[in-house]
Parts: sequence; structure tokens; C-alpha cells
Amino acid sequence: MGAGDVVLMGPPGSGKGTQARLLVRSGWVHLATGDLFREHVRRGTPLGELAARHMSKGEYVPDDVTVEMVRERVASLAPDDRVVFDGFPRTLPQAEALDGLLAAYGRRVAHAVVIDVPHDELVRRLTLRGEGRPDDAPDVIRRRLDVYEDQTRPVVGHYERAGALARIEGIGGVEDIARRVAGAIA
Ligand code: AMP
Repeated sequence: MGAGDVVLMGPPGSGKGTQARLLVRSGWVHLATGDLFREHVRRGTPLGELAARHMSKGEYVPDDVTVEMVRERVASLAPDDRVVFDGFPRTLPQAEALDGLLAAYGRRVAHAVVIDVPHDELVRRLTLRGEGRPDDAPDVIRRRLDVYEDQTRPVVGHYERAGALARIEGIGGVEDIARRVAGAIA
């Protein structure tokens, strides 16, 4: 078995996408379900049409289609690729499905890193980002933060039980946070 994959977790606006993209520079393979959905939306595929209906409300795309999309991507990995999952898993069923699907390829989640950022700071950051993404409108931001608390917080417990959890502070410069991520996955 290889050194293991990484799950980068944190609420919307915590900077996990930025940190995942920095890891790509060190050779990590970035698997971001939000990016994959946006690509389907852009191409106008049936999956994109389905995903857009949920994304525009700040709600999650159903687990079965999300897991299936990830399964296809995992199947295409080379054995020594190391993956950073960004925005997945977001529910307990997704976390359980990921464990099984990685095991089928002799892979595992070695580290789940949670980036902690206070709620008010998240709202501030997402509001500033608001020009770029349709799901960064104020009411959708609130809904996305609530959905994270309800559905994604339990995933933290899943990785805690597995002994894979690390928490880092998400306040500070991008490079400082990158060093904390590197320390957590070393
Ligand atoms: P993100 O770019 O990770 O913030 O994702 C944007 C949107 O895509 C989310 O608000 C969800 O609607 C959808 N999405 C991304 N990843 C998932 C996932 N793992 N499960 C369900 N929906 C997801």
C-alpha cells in the first residue's frame, strides 16, 4: 500500500481549494468534486443539469451520483498517484463509500485535515468572493454554511475514529497555512 491519500476538509471559504491547488505543485493529484461538477455544468451534460439544480440552492448533489463520479476518477489513477480530495467526502455515506472504493484499489485515506476558520470570517471571505461564483450570493452562502454544519461535521468524527484526523488553524497567510497542511500530512 502506498503512503496514502489526503482528504482536505473545512467549511466553504476555509481555503481548502487554495491549499489543495498548492499541493498539486508538489506532485499531488487534485480531485475536487465541486470543480468536476462545474465542468459538467459548463459542458451541459445531464449530470451537469442535475448538479446545477442543487448547487444553485447551496445544497449537496445526491450521494449516489457524487460517489459514482468519484469512482470513475479513482479508477483512472495510477497506483503511485497521491490524491488530495477537496470537497469530498461531504456526508457520512460518502466517507464510507470512499473507504470502500479506495480499499478496492489498495488505497486509503492516511490523513484528513480540517481547516478551522471562525464563522464570521467565512461569511466575510465568501461575500468578497461573491462576484466570481453564482453560489456565493448571500442567501446561498448562509445555506451552504448551514448544510456544512448539518451534513459535513459528522465526517470529522468518522476520521477521528479512524485515527486519521488533524486540525489546523485556517487564519493567516496562504504560505503559513500551507506549512501547517504540510506538517499535518508529513
Ligand atoms: P465546492 O466547490 O466544493 O464548494 O462545491 C460547490 C458545490 O458543488 C457544493 O455547494 C455542492 O452543491 C456541490 N458539491 C461539491 N462537492 C460535493 C459533494 N462531495 N457532495 C455533494 N455535493 C457536492
